[in-house]
Amino acid sequence: MSELDQKITGFDLWHLALPVVSRRDHGIGAVEGACEIVVLRLTAEGGADGWGEASPWAVFTGSPEAADAALDRYIRPHVVGRRVGDRAAIMADAARAVAHCTEAKAALETALLDLTGCISGVPVWALLGGKCRDTIPLSVSIANPDFDRDIDLMQRIRTDGVRLIKLKTGFAGHAFDIRRLERIAQDFPEFETRVDFNQGLGPEDAVARVRDIAGFGPSFIEQPVAAHHFGLMADIRAAIDVPLLADESVFGPEDMGRAVAERIADGVSVKIMKSGGPTRAQTVARMAAAAGMTAYGGDMFESGLAHLAGTHMIAATPEISLGCEFYQAQYYLAEDILEEPFPSAGGVVTVPDGPGLGIRPDIDKLAYMARAA
Ligand SMILES: [Mg+2]
Repeated sequence: MSELDQKITGFDLWHLALPVVSRRDHGIGAVEGACEIVVLRLTAEGGADGWGEASPWAVFTGSPEAADAALDRYIRPHVVGRRVGDRAAIMADAARAVAHCTEAKAALETALLDLTGCISGVPVWALLGGKCRDTIPLSVSIANPDFDRDIDLMQRIRTDGVRLIKLKTGFAGHAFDIRRLERIAQDFPEFETRVDFNQGLGPEDAVARVRDIAGFGPSFIEQPVAAHHFGLMADIRAAIDVPLLADESVFGPEDMGRAVAERIADGVSVKIMKSGGPTRAQTVARMAAAAGMTAYGGDMFESGLAHLAGTHMIAATPEISLGCEFYQAQYYLAEDILEEPFPSAGGVVTVPDGPGLGIRPDIDKLAYMARAA
């Protein structure tokens, strides 16, 4: 009997509120105080366990309550009692059991991969196709409504070796965006700058404003308008010389097919929380590459646990060539939940080589960060 014939016997959930160090504003909403995640632990009958995280944002993907209920009520019956090695069948059953709730499905696939890797003694990247890179360039997002504090952050990350930033725009007026881009160009020439509107522009002035921003020569401009405005995305793309990225418009492979057909972007932000797990994220990236588009490794408001899942996915996906934004564990959370620091330093994330995800959550931290009911 294979080790992977072991049954899954344990299915435990934690709904956490993780304190953050500052307010952050985006085109679709703000985060302040804490971000909420749901952590899943699967245990096999031999005693090994595997961990996964759902990182919802209510205004973007869905609510933490929905992720918690999807896992607890609708997905659990399709997992407990199944064999560890039946990952594809379990994921197919979870997809049918509850619509949407992509963050919950990402947590499930991550925990199944971690469990399989820990039992087999191989890293998650090996289960996702093998490694194409040992490090991933790190991008840090600049999103504080108090720009003086972001100047402090940019000085800090520049000293740390970070060379990619993403300026969040479209939440406090066009003049504020222009002023910040001018200051960055003047005082921080070391950075390659990307711009992300998070759907912040209305149809009345989107083309004109994006044209202004394109004049600063960012390496890409991301999702200026609402997710469902595919036609307007295509119009903006045709009006500028800077690459346009789709984020909120493309969750999974189904959206990606439409994005390619309607030519709405030059690239896509790939996130396991949107696609519903690492495997479907890889499919999105490969569809983009096949259509001549680039791919970037995005994230939600995550702990180091979800960052690890994204890191292993990107390590095994050569089509994601624009780096990642797994900065929250180091620069945004007051305290991460992992036993060891998430491996970002010197402007890159280093891919772990240990079994499974390579680092485990600290179970004591899960207890005291549990969200008060
Ligand atoms: Mg984005």
